[in-house]
Amino acid sequence: MSENNSPFIDTSVFDLFKIGPGPSSSHTIGPMKAAGHFLAVLKQIPATELAKATDIKIELYGSLSLTGKGHGTDRSIVGGLLGWEPENCDCAALSRLLSSPDEKYYVHIGAKAFALSSSSIDFGNSRDGSIWQNTMVLKLMTGNMTMLEKEYYSVGGGFIKCKDDDSASGVSANEPFFKYNTMNGLKDILKKNNIRLSDLILKNEAAISGMSEDDVQKRLDRIITVMCDAVSRGINTEGILPGPIKLARKAPALYRRAGKMGDSPDRFLAFLNSYALAVSEENAAGHRVVTAPTSGSAGVVPAVVYLLRHHFFMLNHEIAEGLLAAASVGFVARHNASISGAEVGCQGEIGVASAMAAALVTYVNGYSTRIVENAAEIALEHHLGMTCDPVDGYVQIPCIERNAVGAIDAYNAYLLASIGDPHKQKVTLDDVIKAMLETGRDMSSKYKETALGGLAACSICC
Ligand code: SF4
Repeated sequence: MSENNSPFIDTSVFDLFKIGPGPSSSHTIGPMKAAGHFLAVLKQIPATELAKATDIKIELYGSLSLTGKGHGTDRSIVGGLLGWEPENCDCAALSRLLSSPDEKYYVHIGAKAFALSSSSIDFGNSRDGSIWQNTMVLKLMTGNMTMLEKEYYSVGGGFIKCKDDDSASGVSANEPFFKYNTMNGLKDILKKNNIRLSDLILKNEAAISGMSEDDVQKRLDRIITVMCDAVSRGINTEGILPGPIKLARKAPALYRRAGKMGDSPDRFLAFLNSYALAVSEENAAGHRVVTAPTSGSAGVVPAVVYLLRHHFFMLNHEIAEGLLAAASVGFVARHNASISGAEVGCQGEIGVASAMAAALVTYVNGYSTRIVENAAEIALEHHLGMTCDPVDGYVQIPCIERNAVGAIDAYNAYLLASIGDPHKQKVTLDDVIKAMLETGRDMSSKYKETALGGLAACSICC
């Protein structure tokens, strides 16, 4: 099920922790990146050829078609074709795109200008021969004839692939310094080289990205800042989230109540819940978050990061080491199974996010790699089988509260692993990732981000 054909893990930390607009990495960030790639392809076409083109058409299939409106897939593709990029686009402007059916947006390439509007986008059924749930086809037309067509797949966490064009994935051609593809393999390398987990991931990141280790650290600082900014905005923003459910934000009220709890033992949990809700509500509002590993699950890791910074007063460089440890868990989950709700259900999103956050908090507290692995395993084990069934196709119910539950589970998994006997842990992280993949394969497509079953079938809203 993994889309990664490489025999070893060669994913960049900053492809896992990606900055971009909510609400969905696979339905918002991935499509924007695909549209940006298509724009770059169009810019390579000779002017004489381009002169014959009349318009651009977009077709969405599978889960992108079924829940694309709720996730802003159509707006993201238009934004990408306008040259906007996930990390620095104006999120408010993005949320206004296509708000009027008659509004036109112009894609300028050389002397040509192609008009885009709601009618440029076709929400299709299924694509014959497409191997991925989330398929989008972008076409350059001359009248009714297709001049150029590119088929893209949004494979989870904002990662994309293009049929017959490897340049779309943005994967580095550089090899990692240390080659591994499972947690067991990673542990062997750590032992043989007597190197810390965060140092290994840092060295690999420098090799894969070509960045200096200093620049990797600076980039991690930026990731921490964006994560914490999302928490700060979320705990200070009241109101109703976009969409037909009319869901009210809860994070500010919970944060205020947590602040009034005095010495209550519940205070700590209330704060952690409020931080996870805060980021998830920001994500649902289409504001800027960091995929960790996806946007739907973007509240779990930042909640723990914010907790470590503001309650345990940890420094950025300590938290950055924890993020590198968390990344190792995300990497093996993605490489050997999937982090896409459309592929394996929510176990691949909130489950993996919770495992990453458990690894983070365990690592920064100085525990061994074995205990870090155990914490991640415990967190993921208890999310096995979790379906993805967002009500009305919006990343709100169950997603927002599920992030809070995932953050609390992460902290609890850290406690269970760190106070237990690490040698008595029977299930490895690799085992539970394999179980997640098998469970995902057996899961009905109704429960894989199609909004056709489970909670999504309830008439909760409107
Ligand atoms: S239910 Fe889980 S996997 Fe599905 S959209 Fe929500 S957070 Fe993502």
